[in-house]
Amino acid sequence: MEIQLFFIFKCIFEKISRPMSRMRIFFLLMLFLNCFVNSANAQSEVISDAKINKLVQQAWDDFKDANFEKSLITSRVALNYATASKNNYLIAKSYKIIAGNYNELSEFDKAIFFYNKSLNYANKTNNDSIKYSLHNNLGNIFCFEKKQFDKGIDYYKKSIAYSLKINDMSQVYFTNVNIAWAYFDIGKFKEGYPYLKFVGNNIEKYGDESTEIVVNMLNGMYSSYFSNNDTANAYFLSAIAAGQNSDEKSDLSYAHLEYSKFLTKTKKFKEAYDNLTTYNQITEELYNQEKLKKASIAGFNLELDEYKRQIDKIESEKISQSQSLKKSRIIVILFVLVSLILLVLIITLIKNIRFKKKHNLELLQAKEVAEEASLLKTQFISTISHELRTPLYGVVGITNMLLEEHKELAQSQHLSSLKFSARYLLSLVNDILQINKIEENKVILENLTFNISDEITMIKNSLSFLSQKNNNKIKVYIDPCIPEYLIGDKLRLAQILMNLVSNALKFTKDGEVEIIVNLNKVEEKFYFLEFHIKDNGVGIAVVDQNKIFEKFVQVGRKEEDYQGTGLGLSIVKRLLGLFGSKINLESNIGEGTSFSFVIPFEYDPQKTKKIINEIEVDLTSSEVYKILIVEDNLINQLVTKKIIEKNNYACKVVDDGFGALDIIEKEDFDLILMDINMPLMNGFETTKRIRLKGITTPIVALTAFDKDEITDEAISSGINDIIVKPFEPIKLFKIISYLIKETKNVG
Ligand code: ADP
Repeated sequence: MEIQLFFIFKCIFEKISRPMSRMRIFFLLMLFLNCFVNSANAQSEVISDAKINKLVQQAWDDFKDANFEKSLITSRVALNYATASKNNYLIAKSYKIIAGNYNELSEFDKAIFFYNKSLNYANKTNNDSIKYSLHNNLGNIFCFEKKQFDKGIDYYKKSIAYSLKINDMSQVYFTNVNIAWAYFDIGKFKEGYPYLKFVGNNIEKYGDESTEIVVNMLNGMYSSYFSNNDTANAYFLSAIAAGQNSDEKSDLSYAHLEYSKFLTKTKKFKEAYDNLTTYNQITEELYNQEKLKKASIAGFNLELDEYKRQIDKIESEKISQSQSLKKSRIIVILFVLVSLILLVLIITLIKNIRFKKKHNLELLQAKEVAEEASLLKTQFISTISHELRTPLYGVVGITNMLLEEHKELAQSQHLSSLKFSARYLLSLVNDILQINKIEENKVILENLTFNISDEITMIKNSLSFLSQKNNNKIKVYIDPCIPEYLIGDKLRLAQILMNLVSNALKFTKDGEVEIIVNLNKVEEKFYFLEFHIKDNGVGIAVVDQNKIFEKFVQVGRKEEDYQGTGLGLSIVKRLLGLFGSKINLESNIGEGTSFSFVIPFEYDPQKTKKIINEIEVDLTSSEVYKILIVEDNLINQLVTKKIIEKNNYACKVVDDGFGALDIIEKEDFDLILMDINMPLMNGFETTKRIRLKGITTPIVALTAFDKDEITDEAISSGINDIIVKPFEPIKLFKIISYLIKETKNVG
């Protein structure tokens, strides 16, 4: 069942996806609903009205033939079909025949009941003929059987109105006879007379042998009432004569009865008695016939109730059918509503699924684009930084050389501006590169051993210029519980402190900057150092306190106050993130600022010893080493050469890789400083070829590339170490000395 349902819904889904198929579904649905409705109606069979009419006719014929049982059965069947076909006229006709049968069987109450039912349906039609007939029949029953004359006369009068409508004057004529007789029966001769008069005027046209008896009798009664005895006598005699010549014995008996009454009134008792006797004789005869008829239908009478019950059943079935039809209709309407709601839901669902699919696809595409863009951005930043760092290296180097060679220029405002600008640019490029690296998750903390006190002193010293400029004092407090040597990324720590302390110095005038390091807690080998960098400078407004950690944000500073990139705190925040730490800020405008954070460092004396041994370099050596510089940029050639020569080392310079390969064939060098980014043949390729020649001279890559970016390739090509430009000369000499000594020891 579930599978079928699933299949149906799947089909619906698939069909809805094409507009043409939506129509098809609609028709399918309608077809389905149609079947549903038909099944609700299938309980009662429907046959054509012509066939029902034939049945009604058959029942009528049987009724006229006094075949009441057959007539009742047929009319019941006709009633059943007429009800199913909702034909009010045929329903009314069927009921009328049923009522007629009961009338004939002297079941007057039942007859009245069914005549009324018939009248009920007849009133729903435009057929005046049946309405006339029903009123007339009801008039007859009430006047002649039930003796309720007023009610009967009412029916007669309505009956006349209908027969006038259909212009059936003969019916008007007969009903007038009945009304006149009814009125006379209850002694209302004056009221009855107009009807008798009408009958008298039309007797030639519409009269028959039955009315001849009655009309004469009525005229007799009327004349008697007004004591026109001769006239009355003549009328009565005419009535009796007409009766004797006709089969209407009942009417004849009435003529005798009324005549007897008249004779009594006129005191002709003997004749009156005779007429009464004749009346009794005829009545007895008729009664015997009636008895016979009743006897013949006695058995049948027993079944009458059953017939009535069955007819009632038709009625109640009809009611229950119409109720169940109503119920079916409600169910169908509900079904249609539920289907529509379901359809709307399905369509919405499909739209949602499609939208999500499309959206997911768009998201995927956007993700790819973003990844691609991020890759491009990284490549772009690294290339630009490299391209900027190379000339900056030259600018900074040459400025230093100028200052050293021409001491008289030391006071030159232009030269110091140049140096400042170059350093500023360099730091900006470095900052951008650093942020980018952190964002790309490319920064891995290093494990170096350090002395916290030394590091802070170094920072304090390097910022002394800034502290003098704003006339600030730097106070340092280091918790004596902190071990002498700790292990961690001291370079990143220094960077964090440099940024915070230099900010404190920049935004404080004639004040005090404190660097406080407390031991927060110890967990196994880890010492948690709590740093505070406090100043009593301008302070930071509360509204700005979150903003300042965003990139390139500088708040409320005047141009001339200081120069900064707006990247400092953003780098600090990210670097602290690498340590798993967070920065706290407390500041009040005009009172000062305090930044604090906690970083765990490892304390392991043995490990520290090992690290110290590894980097221990003897710089006291007085040996003169011969260095080859492979560098294509002429300015950089000059700068590096100057640095090397300043340390009393011998130095040769070649412009490219091929020059290097050439010269090492002819001369021996203690170390080669190799630029990486060179035209024709880059530093990696040149190194590879040198190594292929079996030359083991240590090679140090001197590059503006970031160290991490080229480490792998450098190692695989045979490079021994990397130094990133611009570099601290001391660092370079440490490496040169270390590498040369190591090679010689191995050798
Ligand atoms: P910048 O390179 O401009 O110093 P930072 O990211 O380091 O960029 O600092 C952002 C801003 O935060 C600064 O421009 C300054 O307005 C504010 N700021 C940082 N440190 C301090 C401080 N110690 N006192 C007052 N303001 C500070």
